[in-house]
Amino acid sequence: MIDGMDNFATRFILNSACVAERIPFIHAGVHGLLGEITTIIPGKTPCLACIFPGVPQRQGGVPVFGVTPALIAILQVMETIKLIAGFGNLLAGKMLYVDAEKMEFNLIDLTKRPDCKVCGHGE
Ligand SMILES: [Zn+2]
Repeated sequence: MIDGMDNFATRFILNSACVAERIPFIHAGVHGLLGEITTIIPGKTPCLACIFPGVPQRQGGVPVFGVTPALIAILQVMETIKLIAGFGNLLAGKMLYVDAEKMEFNLIDLTKRPDCKVCGHGE
């Protein structure tokens, strides 16, 4: 499943379905000149609810700068091809943050939340 959603409410629904059905979920989001992407592998990596316990609050700037979704989307395509074909290193358990204004790319390790309501033991 590739996340092309424009809101977290829908993303959380897709995340829950992907975890329940053990379907990989390639999450991405954009705001202004910022983007993020991670590949969620149910049973192995943190899920979206681990990463975002609630809806992230983003402020300021242009809501979406046209080129940013294209930049992040092509990274999603690359992740999808690698996932299906079984080569390369996925962004599994890692979030790639892109700041196109500063042209900085940062890779952050993600951790599962044991009390996650979707993939953990929380309720
Ligand atoms: Zn989780």
